[in-house]
Amino acid sequence: MANNVDVIIIGAGPGGIFCAYELMEKRPDLKVLMIEKGRSIEKRNCPKRVTKTCAGCKPCSITTGFAGAGAFSDGKLSLSPDVGGNLPEILGYDKATELIHESDEIYIKFGADKSVYGIDKEAEIREIRRKAINANLKLVECPIRHLGTEEGYKIYSKLQEHVLSKGVEILFNTMVTDIIVEDGVAIGVKTDKGEEYRAKEIVSAVGREGADWFKDKCEEIGIETKPGTVDVGVRVEVRDEVMQFLNENLYEAKLIYHTPTFDDKVRTFCTNPSGEVATEYYEGGLAVVNGHAYKGKEFKTNNTNFALLVSKNFTKPFKTPIEYGKKIAELSNMLCGGKILVQTYGDFRRGRRTTEERLCRNNLIPTLKDAVPGDLSLVFPHRIMVDLDEMIQALDKVTPGLASDETLLYGVEVKFYSNKVIVNKDFETSIKGLRAIGDGAGVTRGLQQASANGLSVARSIIKTLEA
Ligand SMILES: Cc1cc2nc3c(=O)[nH]c(=O)nc-3n(C[C@H](O)[C@H](O)[C@H](O)COP(=O)(O)OP(=O)(O)OC[C@H]3O[C@@H](n4cnc5c(N)ncnc54)[C@H](O)[C@@H]3O)c2cc1C
Repeated sequence: MANNVDVIIIGAGPGGIFCAYELMEKRPDLKVLMIEKGRSIEKRNCPKRVTKTCAGCKPCSITTGFAGAGAFSDGKLSLSPDVGGNLPEILGYDKATELIHESDEIYIKFGADKSVYGIDKEAEIREIRRKAINANLKLVECPIRHLGTEEGYKIYSKLQEHVLSKGVEILFNTMVTDIIVEDGVAIGVKTDKGEEYRAKEIVSAVGREGADWFKDKCEEIGIETKPGTVDVGVRVEVRDEVMQFLNENLYEAKLIYHTPTFDDKVRTFCTNPSGEVATEYYEGGLAVVNGHAYKGKEFKTNNTNFALLVSKNFTKPFKTPIEYGKKIAELSNMLCGGKILVQTYGDFRRGRRTTEERLCRNNLIPTLKDAVPGDLSLVFPHRIMVDLDEMIQALDKVTPGLASDETLLYGVEVKFYSNKVIVNKDFETSIKGLRAIGDGAGVTRGLQQASANGLSVARSIIKTLEA
């Protein structure tokens, strides 16, 4: 292993992978080193997928390793620049659209399903929009390509094979602990194995999993950041019948609401028709809720799940929104013995704890088997409870049945993409030689934009190296 290379990429999530891919496409002569704290994709194995109980692996196989948080994600690729990140703000709308198209082509080249959901049902979409307007909800149109969890895993496996065959070196099970800066220039990294690697260009692509670490590094080496947003909320689960019209015509209904009481933004996110609610573990064993849907018929359930997220922006002097989100999730973990809390919407409204007995009365069978019936009012601040309630009432006008007593709310879902690193159009930070991309830099929030970001930064690197 050479300790001096041209480019070091920290993190092998979609952002890092597409950066490595593009560097090899355009400059196969470059020496590219990826350093990834998790395992190679074939060694990533989440025991919970079989046992349904989390074994607390360290590092977590769901969020670390080749393909990062993408490997076991539901693999829904948003094809609109309006969704999944800030690339349009940084690069311009047209450029972001072009890059998304290019990264999408790469997913297709590596085996993605060619069907696109959410474009062909014009009359039905007009009807949904009419109902949304009536409920003061904004409908965001976003065509989706759905890889499906198991197909997504295969596509990323082929990408791993591809970048390795093109000569990219990947150090797995290795965490970057430090970024070496000399005279205001980033010149290399140190790893937890005690090694040092040097490069002309370093890309931080550490994802949400590495966002805390990168935030600390930013403070330590003086990279400019600004406090971002934190999204906190619940995962909602209903019978497929309740969401059928939206699922069949939009696949993913992206609806945004500004609540009447607090004027807070609440949005729907990551809908999984016939899917499963899942637990996701962050460093330190923090359990948060998520959801996914398998493509194969044999894995389908009768339920649809989606997230309802309240966006919180903080003002001075508060500057640790990630901590805020974690504290809320920790509170829920504390009440539920480290597991996910579940409450029926009927109990949520009546301010009482859900019981096993009341859970069994429903048409709806929870798909997250180890969730603990509880009371979300002991977890969320009043403001978030009101925001969620008002959003559910509004959604009920678009998809009647959603505000039924049996609807399940799982807590806590938190999206930790709040540390926004200040970058220019080439994703350069205020430290020369160090670029930051993807979810960990607060630039993106989804697979497609993270992948497009990887392509874009690779081209910027090549431009600099060739200047
Ligand atoms: C369960 C789940 C489901 C999801 N479903 C969808 C979906 O359907 N559609 C969608 O668009 N998005 C989805 N997402 C989000 C999507 O996975 C992310 O937006 C995307 O993976 C971000 O890519 P990234 O490259 O920025 O970061 P990541 O994918 O998070 O990759 C970052 C990598 O960096 C590594 N790393 C971190 N710190 C270090 C360090 N110090 N040293 C070495 N390595 C480090 C991590 O181990 C990780 O592998 C989902 C996420 C999860 C967790």
